[in-house]
Amino acid sequence: MLKFRSVAMLAGVSLMLGACGGPESAQESEAKPTWEEFKAQAYREPWEGGKIIVNGDEALDSEEELAAYFRNVVEAQLGKSQDGLAVYYIGGDIKWSSTQKTNLTYCISNNFGTNKTKVVNAMASATAAWQATASVKFVYLSQYDSACTASQTGVLFDIRPVSGQSYVARAFFPNSSRSGRNVLIDSSAFGNLSPWTLTGILRHELGHTLGFRHEHTRSTSSGCYEDSQWRALTTTYDRASVMHYPQCNGTQTGDLVLTTLDKQGARALYP
Ligand SMILES: [Zn+2]
Repeated sequence: MLKFRSVAMLAGVSLMLGACGGPESAQESEAKPTWEEFKAQAYREPWEGGKIIVNGDEALDSEEELAAYFRNVVEAQLGKSQDGLAVYYIGGDIKWSSTQKTNLTYCISNNFGTNKTKVVNAMASATAAWQATASVKFVYLSQYDSACTASQTGVLFDIRPVSGQSYVARAFFPNSSRSGRNVLIDSSAFGNLSPWTLTGILRHELGHTLGFRHEHTRSTSSGCYEDSQWRALTTTYDRASVMHYPQCNGTQTGDLVLTTLDKQGARALYP
């Protein structure tokens, strides 16, 4: 799988950006209601033993049934028709469980030395971007920084420096074993990456850690098709996605940021 190639190729193709064509107009779509919003909007018959009404005239017996309806009908429908991104899929979505998704712990190796503060700050910003839109929570446990290795079981994943690699950074998917759950940042990431920043690169890498595939594998015309192990969270293919390499007929020309469709896709997978 090419996932670990990650944004490695970006730096070498920055001069190609001007030739990538104009931005594609992203389809705006309605924001998906949260469970709390959906529950608040549901009509309840105002009497003892009254039912909860959906679709105008369909009664549900309980809030448990309403919750099941929300999961099976509302979320599924919106996920297929309106949301962006493609999730890694092998007979099922590769994603974090409902309990794990809000406790994604990590450490940042002291081996970054003078670059460590840059990594700490970039991670704070990159995690915030995903947390602002999806029900996920990354938790920095700095007490493990002095032993932040691939075998550190006090955290879900480790962030360590490497050098001389073919990539700027690489990450992992939620089905990786503990030893494979690392975000490795090459020394080249601390040089000039313009128009990208370390924060932008980590936004992309964290997308993988949440289960998102490269958006360009959704299109053979991108020239960067990878494989078919993914499930589209929308019918709309997003060439500007944070998960799309710009050089693969992408349209994002600045730093790697989450698009409207990225945010909707993230919410669809982690409501
Ligand atoms: Zn990648």
